[in-house]
Amino acid sequence: MIKIFICFFSFLLLSCLSSMEEKESSLISCNGNYNIVSKVDIKKFNLDDSSKVKKTDEEWRKILSKEQFIVTRQSGTEPPFSGDYWNNKDKGNYYCVCCDNLLFLSETKFNSGTGWPSFYAPAFEDNVKQVIDNSIGMIRNEVVCNKCDAHLGHVFEDGPLPSGLRYCINSISLKFKKE
Ligand SMILES: [Zn+2]
Repeated sequence: MIKIFICFFSFLLLSCLSSMEEKESSLISCNGNYNIVSKVDIKKFNLDDSSKVKKTDEEWRKILSKEQFIVTRQSGTEPPFSGDYWNNKDKGNYYCVCCDNLLFLSETKFNSGTGWPSFYAPAFEDNVKQVIDNSIGMIRNEVVCNKCDAHLGHVFEDGPLPSGLRYCINSISLKFKKE
């Protein structure tokens, strides 16, 4: 009788654990379909004005494609699995499509399964800036280029070690240069 009870209890425990795993994996999303309040410290590394790249919307429109403008200057999001770099495994560096600021290195890129290029760290912390984004009714940490304020994507706390962070970035915000 005791054995039956132990078996039943173990079964309950296992099903409970597996449903927890399912919930964790459903957090792998870049489009804000889940409600988390991130504990990431909001870091602001504002450059002095002389190092900033500032242009009017009209000037940006002249040098960017329509899609690049919508994502980088109007905080758009490209559809998953649609960009040039989500599955790029080449060694090299990722620069800002607007101002050529070095943003990410291939060494920190990982396969998040989300359809967007994902990195666990920026190339240099000072080269990107995090700002609070509550545009869709929840708090997310937006990642922007620290030189020209281009919208790049968002950062979440479900990334791999060593940082535990996932910088979920639009391919279209980036320009890859192979090493
Ligand atoms: Zn930039």
